[in-house]
Amino acid sequence: MQKLATTRIAAYSIPRRKLIYEADELRVLVVEDDADLNRQLVGALSEAGYAVDTALDGEEGYYLGDTEPYDLIILDIGLPKMDGISILEQWRRSDKKFPVIILTARDRWSDKVQGIDAGADDYLAKPFHMEELLARARAQMRRATGHAKSEIECGEVRLDTNSARVTCNGEPIKLTSHEFRLLAYLMHHRGRVVSRTELVEHLYDQDFDRDSNTIEVFVGRLRKKIPAEIIETVRGLGYRIIADDDAA
Ligand code: CA
Repeated sequence: MQKLATTRIAAYSIPRRKLIYEADELRVLVVEDDADLNRQLVGALSEAGYAVDTALDGEEGYYLGDTEPYDLIILDIGLPKMDGISILEQWRRSDKKFPVIILTARDRWSDKVQGIDAGADDYLAKPFHMEELLARARAQMRRATGHAKSEIECGEVRLDTNSARVTCNGEPIKLTSHEFRLLAYLMHHRGRVVSRTELVEHLYDQDFDRDSNTIEVFVGRLRKKIPAEIIETVRGLGYRIIADDDAA
């Protein structure tokens, strides 16, 4: 099984050499028809450690958002086949709650108003700095998972989502990107059981050959780096990180 898992890692779309990631563990969709900007967005978000899917027109973007469990969507307003405002309205009508940051043309203040009315959580006017987009993305995902602060603590383990640093009793822990993303997801949802399927869906992009056995391998590795009892296996259901208030 170890050998199988190693083979699969090579298929991931995220570079393996980079050990410390700047950002969260989560899954992002970019809907932007400008091919250059689309590529830049995907590049910056992947580099920051997110699993990124992409769409170049409104129909495809709408479909992906409707069917895949994203943690954040970057949505251009002016799109071929289906415009951004209609897409957003339809998602919200079918009760999709993921945070959406819209991209608007400069000087089109009416797009911002319409976008926010349609259910956007934030907007950026083009052109924008990638750093600003990444900061806003981090803020949205923190808010969506109910953590206003960038640090999450579980027992001795502390995770800083801004710097992607993990410490245990103040000592830095070195994690691979996959270990980090897994730990961050569990810590964001601490106190509740997270299934292997949910982890696979949230941690990897569409192209990943989904196999929940790899999750077991990553959990095993994590348990060697942080106190093993922090990640509880709930037989037949998944994993749970014990919240501090459970300990009592
Ligand atoms: Ca456009």
